Amino acid sequence: ASNKGKNTVIKEEIYALGTVIQIQIYDADEEKAKKAIEESEKRVQEIENKMTVNKEKSEVILINENSGINSVQVSPDTFYVIQKAKKYSDLSGGAFDLTVEPIVKLWGIGTENARVPKQEEIDALLGLVDYNDVVLDESTNQVKLNREGQAIDLGAIAKGYAGDEVKKILKEHGIKTAFVNLGGNVVTLGSKLDGSPWRIGVQNPLDERGKHIAVIEVVDETLVTSGNYERYFIEDGKRYHHIIDPKTGYPAEAGIISSTIVTNSSIDADALSTSVYVLGLEKGMELIESLENVEAVIVTEDKKIYVTSGLKDRFKLENEEFQLAN
Ligand code: FAD
Ligand code: MG
Ligand code: MG
Repeated sequence: ASNKGKNTVIKEEIYALGTVIQIQIYDADEEKAKKAIEESEKRVQEIENKMTVNKEKSEVILINENSGINSVQVSPDTFYVIQKAKKYSDLSGGAFDLTVEPIVKLWGIGTENARVPKQEEIDALLGLVDYNDVVLDESTNQVKLNREGQAIDLGAIAKGYAGDEVKKILKEHGIKTAFVNLGGNVVTLGSKLDGSPWRIGVQNPLDERGKHIAVIEVVDETLVTSGNYERYFIEDGKRYHHIIDPKTGYPAEAGIISSTIVTNSSIDADALSTSVYVLGLEKGMELIESLENVEAVIVTEDKKIYVTSGLKDRFKLENEEFQLAN
């Protein structure tokens, strides 16, 4: 209590959603900050328990086990995220597809069982991937997958939702300044204490973690990146990463090595970063420019960087190996 009135940083690291979540709160009331962190941790755990496909039980696993058989009633949380996932599946023309789970499981990227499947194995499952088979009943929060063998995976969007929920909790506790990093999904609350914007590095997709190619200034926004450099394996000199093109059943190869979205809502940013990665430069840019208050940075294989119009003033290149292309 001797510190009253003076802002300090209260930091915590949580391990959840298969990643490290760092929360930094800048506030004079350490007690309050600790409470907010505690509540955030519970909330993230709750979201994981409802939406994981990596444990023995969750609402999502129940939906998958009942595919082609029964509707499953889920919590408002899970229903909301599935609804958003279906919306972005549609908006991206199926580049994002929440029903890609059978293919994701087949490749096993990020697990001990990662391998290049045979074409026949991919062909056998690819027909199951179709977000139109996710049937949602808004009046009862029931979810049904039309065909047996179909399954959903919220890995490309649920971390974004968790980010939004943590921010909501921090705000509810009266916190005005915070920086949250959910395994690369950054969520900011307000500006820095001195009133200046947060300066967030864009990871160099070709270098080790922590090396940046550029810095983006954000205030109260979220920044989410999808890349081919976090979860992958290499076989015969070829890199197989974890973002699948639902049209081919192979890791997406549209010429992008990382796509970053800057906007207000982290669930939207998460869905869109994955969508853009699969869509490729031209269609990805087109999609982002069509959305209000959504900005993007796309890095392509040839080390070019494309920045949307609304972000140019807040974007600073810091690596000469890469070239601003527009
Ligand atoms: P993103 O681009 O945001 O998403 C890629 C992920 O989405 C892929 O890994 C795949 O699961 C899925 N996907 C691939 N292609 C598509 C597509 N075209 N459309 C839609 N989705 C696609 N990791 C662990 O190692 N262990 C865990 O126990 C674990 N539990 C988790 C529980 C939850 C609730 C969540 C949300 C994530 C969990 N994770 C876990 C992490 C998860 O496996 C992914 O690594 C992570 O969510 C991917 O985020 P990203 O930002 O790297 O990539
Ligand atoms: Mg994503
Ligand atoms: Mg991400």
